[in-house]
Amino acid sequence: MSTSDPHCLFCKIIEGKIPSDKVYEDEEVLVFKDIHPWAPVHFLMVPKQHMASMAQVGPEHAALLGKMLLLAPRLAREQGCNPYPEGGFRILINTGAEGGQEVQHLHIHVMGGPRPWLRG
Ligand code: 5GP
Ligand code: ZN
Repeated sequence: MSTSDPHCLFCKIIEGKIPSDKVYEDEEVLVFKDIHPWAPVHFLMVPKQHMASMAQVGPEHAALLGKMLLLAPRLAREQGCNPYPEGGFRILINTGAEGGQEVQHLHIHVMGGPRPWLRG
């Protein structure tokens, strides 16, 4: 199904050309651990279809983005985030240079676990 960018790091991870520590996968979404975690739990959720950032999304992506957001709490708990409200997690989507985005394939950071964290 996916449109892929041959120069994109996360497309290469999705295609298995670069290894990753997978957390979850279905036809539309891949979730893997961040290689430089800021927190005890830190994973990235990416659409398998290449899209550069939140600056490019439209109404046609509503279901996919909704599905990813709804998946985040479940995976956060499965990965070891403590229960709300004492535990919880942080969801972050860096967008563009001034938004701190380094990899130009839309990704949702999910971070959690006991503090202190390295960053965030
Ligand atoms: P951004 O700054 O674009 O929001 O986040 C990119 C994230 O991707 C960073 O947290 C960085 O650690 C992570 N990352 C960069 N390269 C790789 C990689 O090759 N594998 C994995 N698993 N994560 C990566
Ligand atoms: Zn990509």
